[in-house]
Amino acid sequence: MTIRPLVILPDAQLRLTSEPVQTVTAEIRELAQDMIETMYDAPGVGLAAIQIGVPKRVVTIDTSKDEDARNPTVYLNPEIVWASEEKRVYDEGCLSIPEFYGEVERPDRVRVRYMNLDGQIVEQEADGLLATCLQHEIDHLNGVLFIDHLSKLKRDRVMKKFAKAAKRDAAA
Ligand SMILES: [Zn+2]
Repeated sequence: MTIRPLVILPDAQLRLTSEPVQTVTAEIRELAQDMIETMYDAPGVGLAAIQIGVPKRVVTIDTSKDEDARNPTVYLNPEIVWASEEKRVYDEGCLSIPEFYGEVERPDRVRVRYMNLDGQIVEQEADGLLATCLQHEIDHLNGVLFIDHLSKLKRDRVMKKFAKAAKRDAAA
């Protein structure tokens, strides 16, 4: 298992649409393990493969707060098949947009269909933080970032800030 470097805004890879996983190969298992390691190391509650530069529809999530009770789930090709009318606002962050947070309104509950590492298609109903996290990560698979759900003013401001930081790093 390897901790892989994170792709950071404004890297254009974050805007790619990721490709579906056809079969669970050794390569996919290794990718998932690396993603889990990278997610815990960051630390974060969720990660999409594109955030480590792999444009595949793979997501890892662990919303358990307790480090001793780690319980990661690997979602292959996750899709939302149902979402509640009721919404919920959560102050979101993203490992690809470090130290920036913003309130995003999303459905409070969702049902997702995905393939697990055994190659089975399963469904899961989620609420609260897990529902928010699933929607945030599935957005990543479609090249969408949480800042896209903010006002244009806020989004422009954060884009500018990260573009400037990237330029500064490149010059250093
Ligand atoms: Zn994110």
